[in-house]
Amino acid sequence: MIKIDHNFCKGCDICIESCPKGVYEKADVFNEKDVQVPMPVNIDKCIKCHLCEMMCPDQATFVED
Ligand code: SF4
Ligand code: SF4
Repeated sequence: MIKIDHNFCKGCDICIESCPKGVYEKADVFNEKDVQVPMPVNIDKCIKCHLCEMMCPDQATFVED
């Protein structure tokens, strides 16, 4: 399970770029800051390396083991 706190996300795309498995993609979802947030569209490819959590500057991602 991957959770994204849409209200914390600033749309920097670091999670998209840092994920080695291409789990995230931009989606047609905008948060209260009018930021287009990423979505974990390929969850089945996730290897739970937690890189996206570590790289997110706003602690907006959470990967459950
Ligand atoms: S790294 Fe964090 S703040 Fe940046 S787009 Fe991803 S979830 Fe949003
Ligand atoms: S835990 Fe690793 S593989 Fe899974 S979404 Fe985050 S960066 Fe990608």
